[in-house]
Amino acid sequence: MRADLHIHTTCSDGTKSPEEIVSLAKSIGLAAIAITDHDTLEGVEPAVTAGRRLNLEVIPGIELSAECDSGEIHILGYLIDLNQQEFLDKLSLFRQGRIDRMKKMIDKLRDHGLEVQFNRVLEISGSGSLGRPHLAAALLETGAIKSTQEAFDRFIGNGKPAYVPRFKLSPEEAIQLIRAAGGVPVLAHPGMIESTPTPDELITAGLAGLEAYHPAHSRELSAYYVRLARAKGLIITGGSDYHGPGHTGRCRLGSDTVPCEVVSDLRKYAP
Ligand code: AMP
Ligand code: ZN
Ligand code: FE
Ligand code: FE
Repeated sequence: MRADLHIHTTCSDGTKSPEEIVSLAKSIGLAAIAITDHDTLEGVEPAVTAGRRLNLEVIPGIELSAECDSGEIHILGYLIDLNQQEFLDKLSLFRQGRIDRMKKMIDKLRDHGLEVQFNRVLEISGSGSLGRPHLAAALLETGAIKSTQEAFDRFIGNGKPAYVPRFKLSPEEAIQLIRAAGGVPVLAHPGMIESTPTPDELITAGLAGLEAYHPAHSRELSAYYVRLARAKGLIITGGSDYHGPGHTGRCRLGSDTVPCEVVSDLRKYAP
């Protein structure tokens, strides 16, 4: 029995709803999934409810972005207490930060002669977490650019004239937040981090697992992370990082999975 422990929904930047994810997971024979949207837990409850109906185990999760010297890293948090107010307050703070930042990017675009309405960007983002892909889509609608890629290449890609970085946590803060909310912090897709990470500092901060299996990892790289996790006593996790059709990420649901025993490992670890 296999589990896909890294999945996005329309509650962040995925294109399938939590319910759709659950039926798809069931139809391809997965026994368990984790919903791990960016900076939000909103997809968890609907997925758990749908999972109960279809007899599919749904593990609460989240993916937090953090900033360190080598760039952006992502920390997955599993089995977080959905009712922990302090954690939920932090998440709304992140959301407000994204709104303020979007307004700044729109101002910068205006300085470059491009007019985009904030409300339109908000509309496009729907229930998802407001970000540059939505801004790119709004720009595309105005006809000022020919593709969303052009928006990134010319205006809103990292370091481009209308780019504004968003508020980010340090990896240690992200780990501590997750632990304080009763969750299990796991380093997401370590192979996507620019400089090879030595997880020692993250382990000291309370990291509990390493996502060894991910579409961005070659077989060799996954094997390397499995060895590293074993040597460091970390839980070995994995998932597809599925975002649904139409997203730039090209994987399919269930492309990377782990045995369901990993779910038990996470449960045993959760405080
Ligand atoms: P944000 O969280 O608002 O900074 O947006 C990040 C998202 O924008 C990423 O998940 C990608 O989907 C997209 N993105 C970032 N940089 C680029 C780029 N150079 N080309 C295309 N998409 C990008
Ligand atoms: Zn995403
Ligand atoms: Fe990620
Ligand atoms: Fe992800």
